[in-house]
Amino acid sequence: MSEHSQNALIIVDNVVKIYHLGEVKVQALRGISLEVERGEFVAVLGPSGCGKSTLLHIIGGLATPTSGKVLADGMDMSHARDGLRTRFRQRKIGFVFQRFNLFNVLTAADNIRLALKVRGELNNNDSEGRVKDLMEMVGLGDKMNHKPLQMSQGEQQRLAIARALICKPSILLADEPTGNLDTANSERVLNLMKDLNERLGQTIMMITHNHEAAAVADRRIMMRDGTVIDHNA
Ligand code: ADP
Repeated sequence: MSEHSQNALIIVDNVVKIYHLGEVKVQALRGISLEVERGEFVAVLGPSGCGKSTLLHIIGGLATPTSGKVLADGMDMSHARDGLRTRFRQRKIGFVFQRFNLFNVLTAADNIRLALKVRGELNNNDSEGRVKDLMEMVGLGDKMNHKPLQMSQGEQQRLAIARALICKPSILLADEPTGNLDTANSERVLNLMKDLNERLGQTIMMITHNHEAAAVADRRIMMRDGTVIDHNA
């Protein structure tokens, strides 16, 4: 791996993904190679259907490639066994989705506490302090006891970001995080991510088809038809 940057946190090496739909083969990724350095905020930009979500899911260990290799913070996500990959993902990778994926019956704070519970960290000494600090950091310090449906869509996405960060992941993966938001809320969510990157050095990979959203990142990787067409746009 000597040709890779010493500082690379994500390494994707010649990744191919083929989906089989009965007799039909869909080649979603056609030999993708890329790197993301520790502390970078990278946007992967491309039209719908070009393979962005597939790539993000493979990097985050939610799916495996047909061939090729993915290293995320040193872990071989392409070949690790399911259980190991899941535990690694829970500890090291934070996910933010377009549709927030919050539990609407739980309060905002309980959504975050649940993320701690899943990882066996709920009753650590500092866990309540961390929940409060994170809620404040994302501008929701006064909404601890609100349920998601009592919050705006932008607030729900900021809550989802707080939840993704509770276990201090080395990588934050965001799948069209502003796809469901109006302009003002999109701006606030993007500014929050920029701030997390600049102040905390949080490594972020965000996929989007929206050029304005991608503009907040340090670097844009352009995709078309399952390939990277530009690594530094
Ligand atoms: P994007 O995120 O850029 O919209 P996707 O990664 O979702 O692209 O999809 C890439 C290609 O793979 C598309 O042609 C899509 O229809 C196909 N695809 C995605 N997921 C599946 C799946 N689970 N089964 C079959 N085909 C899929």
